[in-house]
Amino acid sequence: MSKLMIVGCGGVASVAIQKCCQNSEVFDEIMIASRTLSKCEALKEKLQPTTKTRISTGAVDANDMRDVSSWIKTWHPDAVLNVALPYQDLTIMDACLDAGVHYIDTANYEAEDTEDPRWRAIYEERCKRLGFTAYFDYSWQWAYQDKFKEAGLTALLGSGFDPGVTSVFAAYAQKHYFDEIHTIDILDCNGGDHGYPFATNFNPELNLREVSAPGSYWEDGKWIEIPAMSIKREYDFPQVGKKDMYLLHHEEIESLAKNIPGVKRIRFFMTFGQSYLTHMKCLENVGMLRTDPVNFRGQKIVPIQFLKELLPDPASLGPRTVGKTNIGCIFTGVKDGKEKSIYIYNVCDHQECYKELGSQAVSYTTGVPAMIGSMLVVNGQWQKPGVYNVEEFDPDPFMEALNRWGLPWVVCENPKLVD
Ligand code: NDP
Repeated sequence: MSKLMIVGCGGVASVAIQKCCQNSEVFDEIMIASRTLSKCEALKEKLQPTTKTRISTGAVDANDMRDVSSWIKTWHPDAVLNVALPYQDLTIMDACLDAGVHYIDTANYEAEDTEDPRWRAIYEERCKRLGFTAYFDYSWQWAYQDKFKEAGLTALLGSGFDPGVTSVFAAYAQKHYFDEIHTIDILDCNGGDHGYPFATNFNPELNLREVSAPGSYWEDGKWIEIPAMSIKREYDFPQVGKKDMYLLHHEEIESLAKNIPGVKRIRFFMTFGQSYLTHMKCLENVGMLRTDPVNFRGQKIVPIQFLKELLPDPASLGPRTVGKTNIGCIFTGVKDGKEKSIYIYNVCDHQECYKELGSQAVSYTTGVPAMIGSMLVVNGQWQKPGVYNVEEFDPDPFMEALNRWGLPWVVCENPKLVD
C-alpha cells in the first residue's frame, strides 16, 4: 500500500496515472499534481469511478522547489514520479530531498533556457571534455548522489522506454545471456501513421530539440559526434517491416557506457519518414527550432515554444494513429568463450493502446515503465539510497512486470545485425 504523487498531466502522465489506477493493490492513493488543475480534475473525474485507488489533485508549479516541497509535506507521498518536463528534474529532486521522499523520472535534466550564462559555461566545458553537444546529460542529476545517499532516499532515473526499458533489457542481457557485452544497438521504430503531414509523438519542443541535434555514439571509451541525420541504415523490423533509421544522440548511451562493463560500442537509431525529416529541416532552416528568445513586436518569444503551440498535441494523436512500434536492443558479446548475439524487443500496437487507455503507443510505452519503476521503488524491491539509472538494479522484477502490465517482450537469438 503506497501513496504516489505524479507531477505532470500530459500524454505520458495520463498513461502512468491510468496504470497506477489499474494497480490499486500497490497504489492505494495517487495525487495528480500539474500546472493546469482542470486537466488533473478532468482525469480524476474520468478515472475515479473505475478504480479503488483514491485520487487527489493539485495545481503545482514544478519550477518552484518550495511549491513542490510544500505539496509533498502536506500530502505525505512515499515517492514522487516526475512526468512533467526534463526542465523540472532538479527542482523536483530538490523538493524530494527537502521533504524526504523517493524520486522517479523518465528523462534526464535539460536546461530550458540555453542562453543562461551560468548553465552555458558548464555546458561548453562539458562539450569539450566529453565530446557531445546535446543540451541534456546526466552530470546534473548524478551530482545528487551523495545528497540522496545521506538522506537514505532513492532517485531512480530514466524509467520510461528509451531510456528505461532499453536499459533494463541491457541489464537482463548482461545477467542471463552474456559474460561480456561488446556492442549495443538500440533501435526505436515507430511504424505508426497519424495522418498529419507533421506531428511529434511526445512533447514537440523536447522531441525537436532531441532530433535536430548532432548525432553521436560511444566507441572505445569515447564519444564520436556526427552531423544530425548523417548516418542512415535500413532495418527490417519484426511485425513492422523495412524502415529507414538514423543515428541519434540518446541519453541512455551515457549511462550504459558507465554501467555495462566492457562494452565497446553503443549506438541509438530511430526511424523517421521523409515527410517528418523534410518538415524538420525546413523549420530548422527558417529558425523555428531556435531555443533562445527573440524579440517579436516588443515581446520576447522562444521560436520552438511558439511552434509547440501550433503543432498537434501528442495526447490527441491516439484516435488517429494506426500501426505499431517496435523498440528494442541488439546485443553482441561473448558467453562461455563463444560469440553470440541477441535482440530483445517489444512490439506495441497504437490502436490497442488507444482502446485500452485512449493513448497512442509512444505515450503508452513510456507511461507503463514509469508506473513499474515507481512500483518497484515504493514496494522496496528497487530501493537503494543514492541516484541510480534503471540498469543498476536487478532487471528480473521489471521484466516480469512488463509482461504483466502490457509491454510483453521477445528474445530472439542470432538476429540480423546493423552494419
Ligand atoms: P507533455 O507536454 O504532454 O506533458 C507535460 C506535462 O507537464 C503537462 O501536463 C504540463 O502541464 C506539465 N508541466 C509542464 N511544466 C510544468 C510546471 N512548471 N509545473 C507543473 N507541471 C508542468 O509531455 P509528455 O507527456 O510527452 O512527456 C512527459 C515526459 O516524458 C518528458 O519529460 C519527456 O521527455 C518524457 N518522455 C520520456 C520518454 C522515454 O521513453 N523515456 C519518451 C517520451 C517522453 P500543462 O498540462 O499545463 O501543459
